[in-house]
Formats: sequence, structure tokens, C-alpha cells
Amino acid sequence: MNGTNPSLMLDITTHLDAPDVLDAGKLCLEFANTSDWHASEQPVETIGSYQDLVAWATRVGVRSDESAAELLTQAQARPEMAAQIYSWAIELREAIYRIFSAIAEDQKPAAADLTLLNEALLCAYSLPEVVATEGGFGWRWRGDENGLDGMLWPILRSAATLLTAGELNRVGQCADDRGCGYLFYDTSRNRSRRWCDMNSCGNRAKSQRHYARHRHDTPA
Ligand SMILES: [Zn+2]
Repeated sequence: MNGTNPSLMLDITTHLDAPDVLDAGKLCLEFANTSDWHASEQPVETIGSYQDLVAWATRVGVRSDESAAELLTQAQARPEMAAQIYSWAIELREAIYRIFSAIAEDQKPAAADLTLLNEALLCAYSLPEVVATEGGFGWRWRGDENGLDGMLWPILRSAATLLTAGELNRVGQCADDRGCGYLFYDTSRNRSRRWCDMNSCGNRAKSQRHYARHRHDTPA
């Protein structure tokens, strides 16, 4: 995605949260999934630094290539600030993960996690403006564009929008029993999604069932 994409003029959250744009279905859940084996005893971190955070944001489409280059330059000039934002991003990600894991299990999220989210929302909804679009008008959040932490705001708005306006019974978690933990917003018509990916956890479960059946059928 490059800097001239007109959709970046508007709230990128609306674009990224639309059905079938991201694999997890919502930007906040896509971010929550940046720790692999998240529900296991030993999650595997895929965002190990501020630079990784920028790379992820660019890959997903929260940042343009141009703005990513600018952020990396700024981060080099202010490494301590970048490190602080990185820690905060991971703290927020874990709160988002816990909130939606609880919801996937029909449980109430912890109040402390909602507090973490709410404190950050003050920034996520700052500097609003209404801009003309082809079909009318839309929101644009100038706070997204500047500053080392700007990529977090669209993610937080995604979480707030999902909590307040989403169909929460579509929030699901991979049924894998090893602690995959992958969260998704199930956009299938009959809400039949059970796995992060049919080719990984889904396939493993299928071959295990097949193996169990086969073993059962085979005379000793
Ligand atoms: Zn899985």
C-alpha cells in the first residue's frame, strides 16, 4: 500500500474492519494475533521491537510505506521513546487479546483490561475532522498521521467499535487444543469458522480424527 492511496485520507479502521480484508476479520484481532500460540504456556512473540511494529503496521495497511520510512527515521532519533511506545503497544495488545478471548468464551472481560483500553482511547479519538469524499463525507483522524504511536490509534478504534457495535457472538478463537489462541471475527453466514486456518490447526484436527477413526476400524 502506498502513500497516495485515497483511502488513507479517511479512517483506515473502517476500511480494514470491512469483511474479508484481514484474515482475522477485524484489525484489533489481527493485532492480537501477532503473538503465536497465544493461549499456550509459551507464546511466541512476532513483534520484537518498535521496528517490527512498524513493519507489521505497513504489511497490514495501517501505515503507508512512506510514513513507515518516516517513522523509522524518527525512531532512530528517539530510541527511548520508540522503546516505550513498543512496550505500551504490547501491553495494549495483551489487553485486547484478553478482552476478546473472554468474549469468545462468553465471559466478561476484566475491568482492568477495559481500563487500559479506555485510557488509550483518549488518544485514539483525538484530532478529528470531517473530510469530503466521493460519495459524501467521512471521518479523518489527524492523530493517526503524526507521531511514533500513530499506528496504534486505528487498532484501538477497531477494538472500541467491535465492542460497542460489533456482533460479539461472531468473535471466536481457534479450537486447537494446544493453545493456538488465534482470535477471529467469523464472517461466514452460518458462523461455522472454528480454526485459525483450515491448512494448519484445522487440518491437524481433521487428520487426528481420521487417524482415531482409522485406528478404531483396524482390527487388533
Ligand atoms: Zn489455530
